[in-house]
Amino acid sequence: MDKRDYKNMWVYIEQNEKQIEPVSLELCCEARKLCDVTGDRLLAVVLGACPETELDKVKDCGVDGFIHVEGTGYEYYNTQAYANAFTVLSEKYRPSAIFVGGTVNGRDFAPRFAVRLNTGCTSDAMELVYDEKTGDIEFIEPAVGGKIMAVITLPVLRPQIGTIRPGTFRYEPTGGRENIEHIYERIDFPLEEIDTRILAFTPGEGDSELDISDAEVIVCVGNGLKDEASLGRYRELAKLLGGKIGCTRPLFDRGILPYKLQIGQSGVMVKPKLFIAFGVSGAVNHVAGVDAEVFVAVNKRADAQIFNYCDYGIVGDMDQVCDAMIAEIKRMRS
Ligand SMILES: Cc1cc2nc3c(=O)[nH]c(=O)nc-3n(C[C@H](O)[C@H](O)[C@H](O)COP(=O)(O)OP(=O)(O)OC[C@H]3O[C@@H](n4cnc5c(N)ncnc54)[C@H](O)[C@@H]3O)c2cc1C
Repeated sequence: MDKRDYKNMWVYIEQNEKQIEPVSLELCCEARKLCDVTGDRLLAVVLGACPETELDKVKDCGVDGFIHVEGTGYEYYNTQAYANAFTVLSEKYRPSAIFVGGTVNGRDFAPRFAVRLNTGCTSDAMELVYDEKTGDIEFIEPAVGGKIMAVITLPVLRPQIGTIRPGTFRYEPTGGRENIEHIYERIDFPLEEIDTRILAFTPGEGDSELDISDAEVIVCVGNGLKDEASLGRYRELAKLLGGKIGCTRPLFDRGILPYKLQIGQSGVMVKPKLFIAFGVSGAVNHVAGVDAEVFVAVNKRADAQIFNYCDYGIVGDMDQVCDAMIAEIKRMRS
C-alpha cells in the first residue's frame, strides 16, 4: 500500500429524524482545520436523503464537497448497508482519513468497514494532530486508566478511521466555500440482507435535567460526597445558578446519580460557561470531558490534582463551601 495514493478527508454526516447529529458538524469543523494543514479536501458523506436546510449547516463548516449516496438500504440506520456503502466508496475514492461520530450507530459500523478495508479504527480521541514528517494523523486519547495520553497512528494502512465522541470538538462554523463539489453515487444494498427491521418507534422520555451537554452552568459532584442525602444542597446551588447537576463516575457506580450525568472520557463531554467541581480528585478521565470557560474546584486536600486544571480553587469541606455559596447568592439577591 502506498499512502500517497490516499487523499482527502471525509466526515460521515449522521442523521437522526432528518436532522444532522451535532457531532457530525463538530467533526467537519475540526477536520477543516486538519485539511487546511495537510492540503487535503474535506468531503461530507451523506447516506440517503437529507433536507437542504440541514446540508446548509454542513456547508457552513467549510467543506469542499459532498458525496451523496442514494439507493436502497438507507431509510433507517442498519449495520449492513451503512458499512457496505463506506467500503464501496473508500475502495473507489481512497480517502486518507474518515471521521465518524462516536454515537451508538457510528461506533457500530465504523470498525466494521475498517475491517473490510483491512485498516485500523481508533475510538474516543480527544485530539487530532497531523504529523508533517510521517503524513499520519495522531489520535490522542487517555489510556491505562488515564495515567498516560496515548498517541495512536496508522503508520502503514489507509484510510485512517476514527470515531470521536460527541462534544469533543467545538462547532465553530467558518462559513461556506465557493464551488462546492457534489458527487452522486448510487449504491443499492439488497434489503433482504439487512438483519434488522424497525417495527415501531417510541421516542424516549426526555428528562431535560439529564441532558447536560449544552448546560451553561454545571455543579459537578464527585466521590467526596458523603451520601445521597447530602445531594440536596448541590441541586439547590445548581438551581440558584440556573444550571444542572453532573457527576464523576464513582457517583454513578454508587447508584447515586444516573449514567447520563457522568462527565468525562466515558461519559458526556461538556462545555459550560461555569463549572464547579465539589469533591472531585481531577482524574484525567474526568477532566478530559470538561471544557469550561470558568472552572472552580472545591477539595479538602490542597494537593488534589483538580487544582491543576481549575481557574479558582477552594480548599475546604465541600458541604460547607456549597452551603456558604448558597447563603451568599441568597444574600446578594435579597
Ligand atoms: C477507561 C476509563 C474511563 C473513565 N471514564 C471516566 C469518566 O468518564 N468520568 C469520570 O468521572 N471518571 C472516569 N473514570 C474514572 C476516573 O479515572 C476516576 O476514578 C474518577 O474520575 C474519580 O472520581 P472522583 O474524583 O469523584 O473520586 P475520587 O478519586 O475518589 O476523589 C474524591 C475527591 O474528593 C475529595 N474529598 C473527599 N471528601 C471531601 C470533602 N468532604 N470535601 C471536599 N473534598 C473531599 C478527595 O480529596 C478526593 O480528591 C474512568 C476510568 C477509566 C479507567
